[in-house]
Amino acid sequence: MNSQQVDCGGDETPQQPLMSTDKALEILIDSANIIDGTIFVGLEEALNSVLASDIQSNINVPSFDNSAMDGYAINLDDNLVNISGESSFIITDRISAGTTGKTLLPGCAARIFTGAPIPRGANTVIMQEECNLIEDDTKIQIYRPLALNENIRPCGNDIQVDDVILKSGIKLKPQDIALSASVGVNELEIINKITVGVFFTGDELVEPGNTLKGGQIYNSNRYSLVALLNNLGCIVINLGNIKDTLDSTCEALKKLMHDCDIIMTTGGVSVGEEDHIKDAVQSLGRLTLWRIKMKPGKPLAFGKVGNAAFIGLPGNPVSAMVTFLLFARPFIKKMQGLSDYMNYTFKVESNFNWHGSKPRREFVRVRVDSSSSPAKANMYPKQGSDVLSSIVWADGLLEIPEGASFVSGELLNFYPFKEMMS
Ligand code: AMP
Ligand code: MG
Repeated sequence: MNSQQVDCGGDETPQQPLMSTDKALEILIDSANIIDGTIFVGLEEALNSVLASDIQSNINVPSFDNSAMDGYAINLDDNLVNISGESSFIITDRISAGTTGKTLLPGCAARIFTGAPIPRGANTVIMQEECNLIEDDTKIQIYRPLALNENIRPCGNDIQVDDVILKSGIKLKPQDIALSASVGVNELEIINKITVGVFFTGDELVEPGNTLKGGQIYNSNRYSLVALLNNLGCIVINLGNIKDTLDSTCEALKKLMHDCDIIMTTGGVSVGEEDHIKDAVQSLGRLTLWRIKMKPGKPLAFGKVGNAAFIGLPGNPVSAMVTFLLFARPFIKKMQGLSDYMNYTFKVESNFNWHGSKPRREFVRVRVDSSSSPAKANMYPKQGSDVLSSIVWADGLLEIPEGASFVSGELLNFYPFKEMMS
C-alpha cells in the first residue's frame, strides 16, 4: 500500500465533520489536569520522576575558594606579578582535599591538591607540572611569569545561596539529581505516578505464543501501548484482551474506573456493530468520538468514566501508535505535571515529491539521512496503517499539511522517535 491509499481507520460519513489535528490536540490538552499528590523520595529513587517543587540552595557551591589543580598555592608578592623570569618559594604547608591549611606568608607556597581550600594569604595556584622542586624539596622554582588567581575556583562559582537550581515540572535527569546532592538536598518532592488502565478489543486477537486459527491475528497493540506507557513512567493495570461485546467492555471499564487516572483502549472506536467502546463509555460516563482529519488514525475516542479520563485509540497498529504519540503522550505528560509536555519537532527536507492535495494531514513514517544539511527525510514505501514494519524502519514522523503539494526539498516538521519513544 502506498501513502495515497486509504487506511482502515473507519468510514467517513458526510454528517460527521472531521476535526482538525490541532483542534483535537487543543481540546485534549485543555482538559488535562495535573494529578493530585506528591511524595518525598531519596535521590537514588528520583530518576525520571517529575519534580513537584522548586529546589533552592541554602549554600554556596563551592562553599570555599579551592584549588582547581594539584600544585602549589602561593602567596604572590605584588611585585612578582607578571614579571618574566624565574621565581622561587619556600614550601611551608601541605593541604589535601578535606583539610584546611595555615595562613600562608609572603614568598611561601603550600603543596595543594584539587578541591583543597585555598589557605588565607594565598592568591594563586601553579600546577605541579610547572614547578620544579629544589633544595632538597624545600622550595619550588617556577620559570614563567605568574598571575594572580590562577587555578582558583572561587566560593559560589557554581551556585550561590538562594539560587533556584531546579524548577518544578521537570523530569529528573541524572544531572538534576547530582545538582541536588551538590547543595546537600537528600530527598526530592515528586509528583505521584499516574495509573493507566488498559484493555484491547477485538475477537480476532490472540496472544503471541499461540498458533493462529482462521481469521485470527496476534495482539500487537497490547505490547506497543504497555511499552509506550512504561516509557512514560506510568503504572499500568492491564486487563488484556476483552471480548467484542457491550457487557464485557462495560465490565472492563467498571474494573478500572475507580483505580485509574486514565483508561486507554485500542480498537472498537468506529461505529460498526462490533465496536462497543462508544456505547460502553457513554453508559458509564461520557464520550466524544472524534474523527480526526489525519492519516493514519482517523477515529479517536475521548471522554471520562468515573474519575478516569478515557482515550480510545484506533485498532490498526500504526494508527494506535501514531495517535498515542501525537495526542495521548502530551496529554499524559501534562497530567504528570511536566511543564514541557508538547511534542518536540524540528525541520527536515522531504526527499520525495507529494502530489494530489490530500485532504487529511498525514504523518508519514520516514528515515532521516543526516549526511547533508538540512537533513533529508526518506519515506517508507508502504504507508498503510496496518504496516507495523514502517514504524520499525522509520526514525520519526514527517508532518505533511492538509492539501500540500510539493517537490522534493520541502521543509517539514519532523517528530523524532528517539524523543517520542522515551
Ligand atoms: P477496529 O478499530 O477494532 O475496527 O480494528 C481495526 C483493525 O485493527 C482491524 O484490522 C483489527 O484486526 C486491527 N486490530 C485491532 N486491535 C488490534 C490489536 N490489539 N493488535 C493488532 N491489530 C489490531
Ligand atoms: Mg475491532
